[in-house]
Amino acid sequence: MLKQMENAGLTDLHFGLDPATGLRAIIAIHSTARGAAIGGCRFIHYAREQDAITDALRLARGMSYKAALAGLPHGGGKAVVIQPEGDFDRTALMQAFGRFVDQLGGRYITAMDSGTEVDDMDTIASSTRYVSCTSASGDPSPHTALGVFEGIKSAVQHRLTRSTLQGLTVSIQGLGHVGHALAAHLHSAGARLIVTDIDPARVRRCVEEFGAEAVDADAIYDVEADIFSPCGLGATLNADTIPRLRCSIVAGCANNQLATDDDGNRLQARGILYAPDYVINAGGLIHVALHHAGQDGAHRDAKIREIGTTLAHLFSEAERSGQSVHHVADLHAETLLKAAVSESAQERHHA
Ligand code: NAD
Repeated sequence: MLKQMENAGLTDLHFGLDPATGLRAIIAIHSTARGAAIGGCRFIHYAREQDAITDALRLARGMSYKAALAGLPHGGGKAVVIQPEGDFDRTALMQAFGRFVDQLGGRYITAMDSGTEVDDMDTIASSTRYVSCTSASGDPSPHTALGVFEGIKSAVQHRLTRSTLQGLTVSIQGLGHVGHALAAHLHSAGARLIVTDIDPARVRRCVEEFGAEAVDADAIYDVEADIFSPCGLGATLNADTIPRLRCSIVAGCANNQLATDDDGNRLQARGILYAPDYVINAGGLIHVALHHAGQDGAHRDAKIREIGTTLAHLFSEAERSGQSVHHVADLHAETLLKAAVSESAQERHHA
């Protein structure tokens, strides 16, 4: 287990057990060097306990990278609550999870992830204040969409040397919470939209509201567009789809867009500029983290707009060094984390 933690770069791993409610939970903390670890809580069924531990270990580092590049005073962590077999009392279970989070005294702040809802976060809030994404903070999706919009503008400036989106074509895959809000921003900025979703009602809405052109789900990879924006599932950029793309920029909100690390290099080899997913989709995290810290409104929006500046820096560095943008992003995040670790070591030394 310690070897697994070392490979995942974690500082600590916590197990919580509450037989009365059926709670079996894991909290993996990757880093607190920049501040309390923040990251979602998964609540799904796992065939094996080890799979749940692996999930928490695997996802915590990504949260540190995301928070660091978003300029937030947070490290990354991830929680997993294993869904009990048979009947269980969800409220009692989430309260028990809240007590588990609380015992860590603020080293970890939980949030929503696969299988958890705003209602769960409200329940958790009755046991701990180290919880975000409650109903008081509201849906993060519009904030994620704003960040993606800023990221697209930054990519367009870098690759197409254009300061506006007027007349450009954006193809959007997935018109859910974020995809629809992004479509609204793009339409207002004068972009032409080509859209798809497996839910026909969502497609119809975009056609009616924004005059978008609709295509079948699989056809989205083949349409000619300046920007392709994956806003549905993960792993849609892979060895099969990348050769089909007819765009110069990929920039969307979906998590884990690259099926493998090689796919980032594949995009680069095709001359397609890729905005790393965890950088461009950080608007929602910025919103929930700042709301938790009691900072909303203008300060938050300015921080979300910085996503565009961060991406501009990463694009330039990738071009200068000849590396793919997703590698440059990872290296930059690691540098920020290392700097925070050595700063806290120095503070301990002087204390
Ligand atoms: P959502 O569930 O509201 O929307 C996803 C949409 O994608 C749905 O309309 C769904 O029908 C569609 N879809 C699924 N499979 C598809 C396919 N094969 N082709 C076309 N469309 C398909 O989710 P969301 O909140 O809008 O998030 C979208 C993505 O962004 C997810 O990967 C999510 O993890 C990521 N993300 C979301 C946020 C946020 O604030 N909501 C923040 C960061 C990352």
